[in-house]
Amino acid sequence: VRAVRSLTVRPHLPEALAGLDPLAANLRWTWHRPTRQVFAAIDPLVWDRCGSDPRVLLATVGAERLDALATDDAYLTRLADAVADLEAYLSAPPTLPVDGTVAYFSPEFGISEVVPQYSGGLGVLAGDHLKAASDLGVPLVGIGLFYRHGYFRQSLSLDGWQQERFPNLDPYAMSMTLCEGIRVEVDLNGDHLVAQVWRTDVGRSRLYLLDADVDENPDHLRLVTDRLYGGDVEHRLRQEILLGVGGIRALEALGIDATVFHTNEGHAGFLGLERIRRLMANQHLSFAEAYEASRAGCVFTTHTPVPAGIDRFPRELMERYFARWMGEVGLDAEGLMALGHRPDEDPTAPFNMAVMGMRLAARRNGVAALHGVVSRDMFADLWPGVPLEEVPVGSVTNGVHGRTWVSREIDAVVSEVVGADWESCPPERWVALDERCDPAIAGARRAGKERLVARTREHLRTSGLSRGLSASELAWCDHVLDADVLTIGFARRFATYKRAALLLSQPHRLRHLLLSADRPVQFVFAGKAHPADDAGKELIRQVVTFSHDPQLRTRFVFLDDYDMSISRTMLQGVDVWLNTPLRPHEACGTSGMKAAMNGAPNCSILDGWWDECFTPEVGWAISSAESVADEARRNEVEANSLFELLEQQIVPLYYDDPAGWMAGVRACMAQLTPQISAHRMVRDYVEQLYRPAAADGIRLLADDVVRGRELAAWVGRVRDGWHQVHVDELEMDEGMGELGSARRVGTRVQLGSLSPDDVTVEAVFGHLGQSGEIEEAQTVALVADGEPDGDGHRRFVGEIPLTVAGRQGITARVVPHHELVAQPLDLGLVAWAG
Ligand SMILES: *Cc1c(COP(=O)(O)O)cnc(C)c1O
Repeated sequence: VRAVRSLTVRPHLPEALAGLDPLAANLRWTWHRPTRQVFAAIDPLVWDRCGSDPRVLLATVGAERLDALATDDAYLTRLADAVADLEAYLSAPPTLPVDGTVAYFSPEFGISEVVPQYSGGLGVLAGDHLKAASDLGVPLVGIGLFYRHGYFRQSLSLDGWQQERFPNLDPYAMSMTLCEGIRVEVDLNGDHLVAQVWRTDVGRSRLYLLDADVDENPDHLRLVTDRLYGGDVEHRLRQEILLGVGGIRALEALGIDATVFHTNEGHAGFLGLERIRRLMANQHLSFAEAYEASRAGCVFTTHTPVPAGIDRFPRELMERYFARWMGEVGLDAEGLMALGHRPDEDPTAPFNMAVMGMRLAARRNGVAALHGVVSRDMFADLWPGVPLEEVPVGSVTNGVHGRTWVSREIDAVVSEVVGADWESCPPERWVALDERCDPAIAGARRAGKERLVARTREHLRTSGLSRGLSASELAWCDHVLDADVLTIGFARRFATYKRAALLLSQPHRLRHLLLSADRPVQFVFAGKAHPADDAGKELIRQVVTFSHDPQLRTRFVFLDDYDMSISRTMLQGVDVWLNTPLRPHEACGTSGMKAAMNGAPNCSILDGWWDECFTPEVGWAISSAESVADEARRNEVEANSLFELLEQQIVPLYYDDPAGWMAGVRACMAQLTPQISAHRMVRDYVEQLYRPAAADGIRLLADDVVRGRELAAWVGRVRDGWHQVHVDELEMDEGMGELGSARRVGTRVQLGSLSPDDVTVEAVFGHLGQSGEIEEAQTVALVADGEPDGDGHRRFVGEIPLTVAGRQGITARVVPHHELVAQPLDLGLVAWAG
């Protein structure tokens, strides 16, 4: 019989145990071990069996056990301590305040496997961001969507083909509270959609998720929030309008006065269009004024260097869904499309959400240093005339939330040696982790590895049974993995650029490693492919097929239904974390960071975070053959490098030099943790992006947006007059200079209708390269010297310091200058000498 309606019945807690309710309601338990122990103590077996979910535990455990605990004084004391600890945590003074509130928009949030509202790295990063912001007391709320079916649950057919299931999720069972009386309405091409809002507390951070599955909506609108990354392009557009436009309306309905709007990847970018519309309607601004006032408070983070990873919407859809918006803001279809197009792009080309994100935010960043370089290149044409290294897209390297990802045993060692604040303490403190700690670290790592072995056996048996295999056919599962054997992990989305099957390209070498009598290696794989990605599923099939070989299956395994829980078990249990992306397609990658924090060195292509954090003490770099154009040949070269590292370095070090191995484990934890902690990441966001964005946004909007109007007028004037600006002469004595001295330079500059106050005239200088390019350019501002001559030219003069020996090149340029513009090159206006 199929149910037509359903409800969740909350268990009745004895009065004395009332404290369990707030502990379960706040997702801080997902990373706070003492709280988890309070739950585990209720019934350790049930706690394990229900996947460590307090809600399920309390609903399952039964009144008898709860009544017994209600009179257990020792337990009641622990409970009271945990409740007091949560209260103290929630009310602690913030260590990183920002003016107002940061609204962090993301299409997915990975807080915990028991709140399955994520697909992979982007969501897990958002979850870690919320948690670290909570720890540091950054005033931040998350805005997202509640997907009735989440992403999907993965299983495998007998021949290794990915199967997808979409279970119904119950928000009440996920510690979510309905925001009573809050209704958000958006127009979807004439359809009027109403959404309700769920709230989840993640420590001090609040997460609000919009949900279209409400009675007021007709069926086709209720399905707008059915699945994460499901459906066709129009479905995606509808979801993104609800996220961006609806998200802004939800903030207003909830009374949250956000000053910073952070877009975690392009999907939420429509928030900028909604802010512009509102500012125009409420403050009577022109489009140009609202555009400047809105973007000052916006931060856009791009997450992919793969063009296919960026949302693009056909013009026809954009015109339909934004017809009303265009009317309200007075833009025509050309004007709308231009926001999502590169300069000179074909006006019929699809609307690019990353391009719009770049335009509608005054501050932009990639997620690792290398990704910053790649992003500057990828979006350089939005700032024509600006040198590549000055394209105004910065980078903040991602981080991971330590207490979410590090095993309890490693946490205990590190907390004792480095301090309880190891997630945010200064790097110097990690010197305390020296060779005297090796036995403790080795013991902690062994515990994680034994858990991985046990869980892998159980997992393989359970999924084999569910595929219809019999217990006797699965007897081999009892012999899978061995805690004494070198164990290598690989878990990620099966996107083709991640090249999960690189190892399989040389099966004879792989077999040799797996089957070595005295120094064997074992591999654990996991990961999902997007339901529409048949190439990704084919990679899974290859890995799974290999893992079915009776000779190899105890040493080479694939765990289906990858999620945060499997991820933790793997990262905490493997000896080496493997990553084989096609450089530079991995923007950052975070699973390797989680492994490193647990003392598992990475063996990876120098891509993403590994490119900036790798040193020979902390792991291995697979050489990347980017210069090889032929892809098959390139894969072969890189696979050779991977096998050589395994055969000649990793295996011998592990088996022949345990002390050397432990030195690497220690270095990996001590050197890397301070760099890859989400606490460091959130601090960088606050200092480099949130605080300046809040300050600029507040300044521009204050007093009826007087400064915003002023800035827009100035931008308009400078744009209009810029074609008249040029540098006509650059004078400098080209005779030999003395190191340490300075050389005078002078320029003759035409400013047309602009005044010297509107611009900065700069000398640009540095080492002169072979092709006449200035390398590692520096700038000095030149100052106006005297009045303009008859035809309006002015002289600007200054001195350049001669600080390095060798051939120096010099040029001059004019860039706009205004105190309300943080990055002058952001206007994309530069006039160069010559
Ligand atoms: C960390 C994590 C990811 C991201 O891993 P990458 O290294 O960025 O591929 C994806 N899924 C889960 C479940 C994770 O825990």
